[in-house]
Amino acid sequence: MLGSGSAGNSALIATDHCKILIDGGLSARQLMLRLEQCGVTPHQLDGVLLTHEHGDHICGLEVLCRKFALPIYCNALTAEAIRGGGSLNGHRNWRIFHTGAEFAICDIVVQTFPVPHDAVDPVGFAFHAGTRALGFITDLGYATKMLTQRLREVHTLVIETNHDEKLLQNDPHRPWPVKQRIQSRHGHLSNAAAAMVIGELLAGKIERVVLGHLSRDCNTPELALGTVRLLLEKCDKADMEVHCATQFEVSPRFCIGETRPGPFQPTFDSIFFKVPTVASDKLGSDFSNRFRSATLPRDQSRDE
Ligand SMILES: [Zn+2]
Ligand SMILES: [Zn+2]
Repeated sequence: MLGSGSAGNSALIATDHCKILIDGGLSARQLMLRLEQCGVTPHQLDGVLLTHEHGDHICGLEVLCRKFALPIYCNALTAEAIRGGGSLNGHRNWRIFHTGAEFAICDIVVQTFPVPHDAVDPVGFAFHAGTRALGFITDLGYATKMLTQRLREVHTLVIETNHDEKLLQNDPHRPWPVKQRIQSRHGHLSNAAAAMVIGELLAGKIERVVLGHLSRDCNTPELALGTVRLLLEKCDKADMEVHCATQFEVSPRFCIGETRPGPFQPTFDSIFFKVPTVASDKLGSDFSNRFRSATLPRDQSRDE
């Protein structure tokens, strides 16, 4: 986690073959600085993957992408909303996916799914590489059944613990409509709500939880960690690893698993553009099929 909180969010996921930024909601300067702390230069990034268009997830991308022309992976509505907001209008390298699609970026298979949040088409992700998986959900009002099902397969989960319900209710600075928005089914997960989601995943493969997107005024790492640890104790899982990401510093590096070293994996481009039969005017309507065709079982993709 390069940084996470209500003021800005970005994370780096990496295998031996691939480096992807998830969201770019820190200043370009901070993004570069924090990437450098991880031993990564922006040139090495294979792309930026976006959850949604809110400023705390995209504000550094205008400058970063102007400098480095990084591919941006997002759905069409999110791209439109960002461009409509006056950002990234000169950007040419968009990789548009349909929400719900599954596709590969190098050796990482990305599953996308809708999450309920007050953005145009917000998504969560499950990343699979080798035999291991990472779930990534920030900015959501509640966890849908489908989302919970997808996340039962992941070993590490990044999840937002946005606010403590009492601190939010008693906050003197936020007007009622704002509090209602945050607590609504299209707002953000409270510590207690996130703990419930984690509880539902305990029957799955989960081994580690990373908490993020904490509100600066209405939460503390102690409260978020305390709520989740209490739930884990109750469920007899007190030994599970739990971390809390913060706004101002890079988190420790979390090793989710090993990918087999070997020949370079086919890139998203090489698979995507290999399908030669579709006329260019049909590109839009055929996107979803083509994206599905871009997905290969991992073993098969390894052989190429
Ligand atoms: Zn956010
Ligand atoms: Zn948001």
